[in-house]
Amino acid sequence: MNQSPRSSLDVAYQQALAFLEGLPARTVASEKTYAELCGLLDTPDRETPSDPATVVAKLAAVADQGVVASAGGRYFGFVIGGSVPAAVAADWLTTIWDQNAMNATSSPFAAAVETVALKWLIELLHLPAHVSAGCVTGGQMANFTGLAAARHHVLGQAGWDVERRGLAGAPEVKVIVGGERHATIDRAVRYLGLGLDSVRVVPADRQGRMNVSALAELLDRLDGPTIVCAQEGNVNSGAFDPLEEICDAAARHDAWVHVDGAIGLWALASAEYRSLLRGYERADSWAADGHKLLNVPYDSGLIFCSHPDSHMASMRLQDLPYITRGAERSGSDWSPEMSRRARGVPIYAAVRSLGYSGIADIVDRCCALARRFADRLSAEEGIEVLNDVVFNQVLVRILDPDGDHDGRTRAVVAKIQQDGTCWMGGTVWQGRAAIRISVANWSTTTEDVDRSVDAIVRAARPAG
Ligand SMILES: *Cc1c(COP(=O)(O)O)cnc(C)c1O
Repeated sequence: MNQSPRSSLDVAYQQALAFLEGLPARTVASEKTYAELCGLLDTPDRETPSDPATVVAKLAAVADQGVVASAGGRYFGFVIGGSVPAAVAADWLTTIWDQNAMNATSSPFAAAVETVALKWLIELLHLPAHVSAGCVTGGQMANFTGLAAARHHVLGQAGWDVERRGLAGAPEVKVIVGGERHATIDRAVRYLGLGLDSVRVVPADRQGRMNVSALAELLDRLDGPTIVCAQEGNVNSGAFDPLEEICDAAARHDAWVHVDGAIGLWALASAEYRSLLRGYERADSWAADGHKLLNVPYDSGLIFCSHPDSHMASMRLQDLPYITRGAERSGSDWSPEMSRRARGVPIYAAVRSLGYSGIADIVDRCCALARRFADRLSAEEGIEVLNDVVFNQVLVRILDPDGDHDGRTRAVVAKIQQDGTCWMGGTVWQGRAAIRISVANWSTTTEDVDRSVDAIVRAARPAG
């Protein structure tokens, strides 16, 4: 058995180049179903060793039939960013180096690159210079970490040390959310033991934005420890909650404002879009996703907090005899994990290769291309755009001559996915079926959008 890394890595390198260079010509959807792929992968020869390079080659051969081309320019499903080349390459090396990014003792390099990458992101996003930051796996854990810091802080203000005493007997914490918040907020509330009964929902408007006067009225009726969750970048419509007004209302009640900016925090990198988040600097914590508009590979989430003491108190790993602590920043004090992948490495490479101006360009370009989708589609007979396209998201509805708009829209989604020119998913937006288009890939071109519009129009044409 040849365990030298060269033959396996040679296969991986050739496969990687063939995949990336083949992306533009590739069908965007998977060719095989999940069940077919399980069948191909669940081979009988697994009890004895296999040649490593052959294993990699065979795995890649199955992947070729089963991966979706979300790395390419015509994938518009969910909110899936691509990966810029420097970040892809740096992420490979992250695996090769296999560092434990826990702290500066386990890996001086991983700790240093994380420190510098986070410092750059704070600068890029114009966040207050004193904020603390942590690398996590995604928006879910960023929301969890932000809300953990919030829980510590608001209970601390009420004289309760939740880290020591837990929640039994604690003052009740209320978590105020908008009607169109992301599901990961609710799950973070569950993780934190606050319970879904602590969640108070403020209605959202037709774009999905929190109604601020309803928020102010609700705050007037509540007292005690309170957290307000604003959302900047709705996963369907791309809408931004009015953050300045939310911060005003929260400030009158000493409530913590957590910003779920998984998509929209990146608007702060762009001079054109920054005003969508007016007032952002007054919030208490901000979550963002590196694997969305920053275009680093999965997985990459980020949490920033303007109360480093509360952030640290909620996450700090206690002193252990086998872990020496220096004066250096210790990444495991700012995230829920101990041993961790060096997620700072691909972030560093992405920022260094794009520059702040290149990141602004990605944001600007994705938003401009989303508007191009909306302009071209709304010019078509029988196609309606449901949202104000303020950012990178477009919601489209296909009208049916017989009035079954929901059924028709769903059928067209299925046809688009089968056609393979592009991929976009379906959703239900405020009670109506819609096609979701999310432009989040650095490599998407005008031509990609135009080809995709043509594919949608083809699929929307009445049969026969
Ligand atoms: C994507 C998203 C999340 C969840 O992020 P993950 O990276 O999938 O964990 C949370 N909130 C919003 C607004 C999102 O768009």
